[in-house]
Amino acid sequence: MLHRLQKIAEDLKKTKIDGKLGIGEKGRMTKQMMINFKQYYRQAIVQKKTNLDEMIRSVWAIWKHKASSNDDPHHERCSIKYCGYLKSLEKGEEYDHNKHRLPLGIMKAIRPVFDELAHPDTLKKVINGGSQNSNESSHAVLWSLAPKNRYATGVVIDLCAAIAVLSYNDTTTNNDTDSSDESDDSNNIDSNKSIQENVNKGRNDDGVA
Ligand SMILES: [Zn+2]
Repeated sequence: MLHRLQKIAEDLKKTKIDGKLGIGEKGRMTKQMMINFKQYYRQAIVQKKTNLDEMIRSVWAIWKHKASSNDDPHHERCSIKYCGYLKSLEKGEEYDHNKHRLPLGIMKAIRPVFDELAHPDTLKKVINGGSQNSNESSHAVLWSLAPKNRYATGVVIDLCAAIAVLSYNDTTTNNDTDSSDESDDSNNIDSNKSIQENVNKGRNDDGVA
């Protein structure tokens, strides 16, 4: 995701989009925003890890959420876990898309990234953590991070699943999935370590061996 967004930003540097050259700058597609997109994409995969249709819908929900405006909101597929619009709706508060949305011209410019990364051919490689495509299922990676005899909370399991998917992508797939994006994740090893610490901590706190 990140790598592809950066490529589009580079390709469109000299193209006028919504009145400005390129898609970057404040209030547009900043580096931080690209990183956010990468994380949203990862979450969509991890949370819907066994259901391809739901995974596809969740990835498109990201695009629709960010392209939404006050006149044209599309949060039907959003989760209240991250969607400010749905949260405001629940509280009966006003929600102003202008503070959160990206210009439609930019969303259209990055749409090919979603066409590719939300494509069933792409996502079916990571369904069930990619176990359909590999002898070494990522569940093996998952359980190496969270041994079955240890107490682990659902959150920790989710984190482990995320790491497992990423580890799987990093080691076994090629550039037609999103593995190249993870090269900027210098924290992968640290994450593994802190997950182990959390698993251990959970066990100690709850006195469950
Ligand atoms: Zn939303």
